[in-house]
Amino acid sequence: MAMQQITILGSTGSIGVSSLDVIARHPDQFRVFALTGHSRIEVLAEQCQRFVPAFAVVPNAEAAGQLSALVPTQTRVLCGVEGLIEVASHSDTDTVVAAIVGAAGLLPTIAAAEAGKKILLANKEALVMAGALFLDAVARGGATLLPLDSEHNAIFQCLPPGFTGVSGAGLSGTGVSKLILSASGGPFRTTPIEQLMTVSPDQACAHPNWSMGRKISVDSATMMNKGLELIEACWLFNVAAADVDIVIHPQSIVHSLVEYVDGSVLAQLGNPDMRTPIAHALAWPERIASGVARLNLTELAALEFEPPDTERFPALTLARQAGESMGDAPTALNAANEVAVAAFLAEQIRFPRIAAVVAEVMADWQGSEPACLEAVQDSDSRARRLAQVSVAGYQDEV
Ligand code: NAD
Ligand code: MG
Repeated sequence: MAMQQITILGSTGSIGVSSLDVIARHPDQFRVFALTGHSRIEVLAEQCQRFVPAFAVVPNAEAAGQLSALVPTQTRVLCGVEGLIEVASHSDTDTVVAAIVGAAGLLPTIAAAEAGKKILLANKEALVMAGALFLDAVARGGATLLPLDSEHNAIFQCLPPGFTGVSGAGLSGTGVSKLILSASGGPFRTTPIEQLMTVSPDQACAHPNWSMGRKISVDSATMMNKGLELIEACWLFNVAAADVDIVIHPQSIVHSLVEYVDGSVLAQLGNPDMRTPIAHALAWPERIASGVARLNLTELAALEFEPPDTERFPALTLARQAGESMGDAPTALNAANEVAVAAFLAEQIRFPRIAAVVAEVMADWQGSEPACLEAVQDSDSRARRLAQVSVAGYQDEV
């Protein structure tokens, strides 16, 4: 394997830190080219001291001044979206780990696609909000898109090499009959529904199996995460929403499955640790050690599977409808969800109101097919404004 020069967008987050852990195990194969962070500047400074990247990126000039005093002289500090775009598309980087959370990751990830990089995608929101334009950029730039999301990475591993669905015809004629995303069900899978009005942000972020950033943790608790992943799967594998099933699997050992027309079902299993999909995508098509403990089959408790409860998790239905309409419906869904989750984390609305806010935005949404990134950003802004109005209507409950 040739030495890969790696940019990590969002290196201070949960995926960023796990990526650096894998990279550090293989100094002969990977070098850190650029690191970026948004708020935890001290963490970014420590990462720069350890990995001595050519670039580090922070949100603004003030943070750049702060960071510059703390990093090795070899590290140049850039700022803003322009800085993120520069390190994502720089001619000296081969591989970009897209691990910024939310819509903020869109422009740098698109820049990496246009520049033909190998993109390891964790930032599912970018693909959900601008799927068609994102994949256009990948095709135009000759980029390679590999999924880091554990479910999609599992499906990628279980599909035949080079698999793609048939545009308009989904899986027909491919030999594959279903993609099955597994979901843990999050911390509130068995909580009495009436108690959900009083759960706190910390309870929502206490995921039973995975340790993750706060936004995706809340998404897991509402199961909007699985809804976003359904749309993510449609784009990554060129299939229709109807080709993707969701099954609850509370142990998070079976990371997802692929069903074939002959009745075979292939699954990828492993301990719930993101370093496995990260190592898989970094080394693909080869394999490298990840530091993840081996799965001990004889010590596993029973593996359970059950259908998702759509009354408990209305976000699943909202996301499926957006995935069936496509156009800018997923853009609106994602934007409304980001606003609602931020309001819940700031204790401005109650937990069940996250899905209520998204439902209100989607109920009135007049869909269109965004022809360019500006159109995507217009749809995103419009949905955010509608979501803010909806949030305001629920604020007197807290
Ligand atoms: P996190 O909150 O731990 O980290 C987010 C990173 O993005 C941080 O480095 C932060 O500095 C940066 N960031 C935040 N806002 C930014 C902005 N406005 N501009 C630039 N950078 C910004 O989140 P995470 O759990 O690491 O998740 C990152 C992405 O990966 C999300 O899209 C999430 O859905 C996806 N993902 C995460 C996991 C997981 O296990 N954590 C699994 C699958 C997918
Ligand atoms: Mg996932």
